[in-house]
Formats: sequence, C-alpha cells, structure tokens
Amino acid sequence: MLYRDFREFLNALEARGLVKRVSAEVDKDWELGCIMRNIIRQPREEDRYGIIFENVKGYNMPVVVGAYASRDAYAVGLGVKPEEILEKWADALDKPVEPVLVNDGPVKENILTGEDADLLKIPIPTWTPGKDGGPYITAGHSVTRDPETGIRNVGNYRIQLKGRDKAGILIVPAQHIGVMYSKYEAANKPMPIAIAIGTIPSITMTAVTKVPQGVDELKVASALNNGPIELAKCETVNLETPATAEIVLEGEIPPHERETEGPFGEYTGYMATPGPRPIINVKCITHRNRPMWPAIISQKPPSESMVLQGIGLEALFYWHLKRKMGYPIVDIHAIQATGLATVAISFKNSYPGHAKQLLSSAIAIHPVYVKTVIAVDDDINVRDPVDLDWAVAYRVQADRDMDQIPRAPSFPLDPSIGPQDVPREHKVTGAKLLIDATKKWPYPDVSLPPKDMLEKVKRTWHRYGLPPLAS
Ligand code: MN
Repeated sequence: MLYRDFREFLNALEARGLVKRVSAEVDKDWELGCIMRNIIRQPREEDRYGIIFENVKGYNMPVVVGAYASRDAYAVGLGVKPEEILEKWADALDKPVEPVLVNDGPVKENILTGEDADLLKIPIPTWTPGKDGGPYITAGHSVTRDPETGIRNVGNYRIQLKGRDKAGILIVPAQHIGVMYSKYEAANKPMPIAIAIGTIPSITMTAVTKVPQGVDELKVASALNNGPIELAKCETVNLETPATAEIVLEGEIPPHERETEGPFGEYTGYMATPGPRPIINVKCITHRNRPMWPAIISQKPPSESMVLQGIGLEALFYWHLKRKMGYPIVDIHAIQATGLATVAISFKNSYPGHAKQLLSSAIAIHPVYVKTVIAVDDDINVRDPVDLDWAVAYRVQADRDMDQIPRAPSFPLDPSIGPQDVPREHKVTGAKLLIDATKKWPYPDVSLPPKDMLEKVKRTWHRYGLPPLAS
C-alpha cells in the first residue's frame, strides 16, 4: 500500500517543500482563496505549492488547499516520477484491484447525527468572493450506487453550502451520477449519497477523471495506491466510503426537488450561471479526531483542478490510444491554460495519413470537453510550449493540415458556444479542430548547434562567470 490516508500524503508533500503552513489567521470567505490564487497563478509550475491554513477565523479545523498544485505533487501522490505517471495510470486501468470492506476505521472516530451534524461548523471556503453563490465544497468525492445494476460511482461534483444540513449539487444528466439520479427520479425515490473529503490521493485522482462508465473508480484507485483500499459501511445510507477519510457527509438527494445553485467560478475561466439544481439533505457526518478540510482550487486556469483533471485526461487518452489501439504514443499533454480544451500528442509518425488516423481516434475519447487535438512528431516535447508553437508554425498549412468537425458534442459551460441568453439545451454542440503538425516529407536539418557542443559548454559553465541556467 502506498498511502494509508491523506495525512501520510501531506507529510510526503511537506517533506519535499510542496506544501507549506500558514499559522496567521485567515478569513475563509475571501482571504484564503485569494492567497492560494496568487500562488497558483505563478507562471512556472515549480513555483506553485499547497498550503495548510492552520488558523481559519471562526473555526477550529485547518483547511488544506493546493495539495495537487503541480505535476510534481501529483507524481508524489502516485509514488512515481512525473514521466512515469501515464504508464502507472494505464497499468491501473488494465488491472483494477477490488477494495476490501472493514468493520471500523478512523472516519468512525466521531459520528454526528441530528442537530450535531452541522455543515456550518466546517470551514468551507468561498472561491470567487463577491461572485459565487456561496461557499463551495470542491474536493467532495461523491459515492452513489446505480439502483438497477448496483454499480458504484465516485465522482467530484461542485457542492454549494446551503445551510446546517443542506447543500446544492450540480448533476449533469450525461455524467455517471446523472444517469443514476434519473433512475431514482423515475422510481420517485431519493438517491443515497456519501461524500468523502480528505482521502488518499488516488481516490481524488480517479474521482475527477472520466473513467469509462461501469468502471469502479475505487478499484482503479486501489490499483494506483498499490493495494486494496479499505472501505467502511456508512451509518445511515447503504453505501461504503474510504475508512480513513477525514470527513464523510451522508445524505439523500430527493427526487424532483430543485433549488437555485450557483453562480460558481468554473474551470473555463468564466462564471457559470445559476439555475435550478438538485439538493442534498445531509443526515449524518462522520469524521476523524482533529479532522482537516481539504479543498481543490479551480476557476480560471492555471489551477489545481486543471492539474488533477488534465493529468487524468492525459491518462485516459494514453490508455485508449496506446494500450487499446496500439498507436506508438510518446507523450500526451492536456494543456492547462486551455482548461482541457486542447490536447497535444507526440507519436512515432510512421506512414502517410497516420496523424489523421490518430487525431480521429483521439477526438472520440472525450468528445465533450476537448475541442482541439494536435498531433506532433516524436522530436517535439509536447510539455514545452515553445517546442509546440514551433511545430504548429512550420509543420502546418492551415488548408491542408487542419480539419474541422462541426456540430460535435459540446457543453454549455463553454461561453463561445452561444450567448448567455440562449437556453442551455440549445448549447450542446460545438466544433472540433484536428491539427496535423507532423512533417509530411523530409525536412532540412534543424538550425541549432550540435547537441554535444551545447552540452559541453554547459558542463564548464562556471568558467564564464555567468548566472546558472534555468535548465
Ligand atoms: Mn464513473
């Protein structure tokens, strides 16, 4: 087993300087989010880190934000080097591991019901002060079960604090949880839900990733954590949640009941409009002794949410394209600044048309969020924006190498789909762009000094009396 609980992961991050502590008092409703925003907006990913806010004004529970602020932190969560992340994910998707049920666990150290189950005692932050509809739970891993198949789903959905025992939740019908909720509503029954907060990293990683429908996220998460996750039965609903979670909220989503949810600052970089959405009636809260409240910062990229969702998206692309379809993939990059809209893929381009074949396969994997896919040769580093811009500049002729797919699936959160006053149901399709940025014939030699000469001067750099190079 890689990590037993969220606390072990935090220790590993802190030891590497990827998490720091703030002991000064901070206000959760504006200050905390603004501090974290300034850290996450720094242009170099290696300058970003997470924070344990030890002293949240009015509460005696610390808030942890930014545990996944960089790819380096994500790699720590998987116990691998950054360049090994996609292979580890592909192995886990190929060989999921069954979790185990245990009778007890730290999450049962405190069981609160009735008036004691009070969401208002938890320091739930506000992320876009003055614009969000209220405080939001952003790292709540919602466990639900399909009433027909019994298949479990774990997903991360935005949850708005609405009162002592009430929250609002955004459920999109096409999402796995949405499919399940439709079945409960058709039967006029409430949907039981258990929301786990503060889990081992692999549960957070799978909860934010669109693993294929019917694949149990907790089995993939077990494989990513190198062994079965321990699950404990909930107190008031027929569900299981991670036994070492910091906090679990148990409750029900009643059928056909709607209340205004939102606005919320979304990952596209724009405010999502409010609307009538389902509610959660919280019936029970279980938590560890001295619990922490972990949260994920989203909103305009770059963000922690984009690190988490971006790497998960890369992993899904990698698994489908390399493991399932046999493409000679080198690397895949979901470009953070584009908020999942653009994905660049490097591969061993082997025959005429190979890139177009790859691009056509790639756009089908995640047809809703991804808008542009770029294919490049294996000499291009897809994680280096300079390299990628260069490839698109001089290996592309727009009329020949770009293909558009009109009226493909899209989503109303994309403000370019249509004006705000156009009803959401009319904003479900959009265009896709496939860019073949590979060389179509032999090219002239690259205009750089030979690599060995560049390396030679680097080795004796001290001789020149210059500041050290960044890389
Ligand atoms: Mn799912």
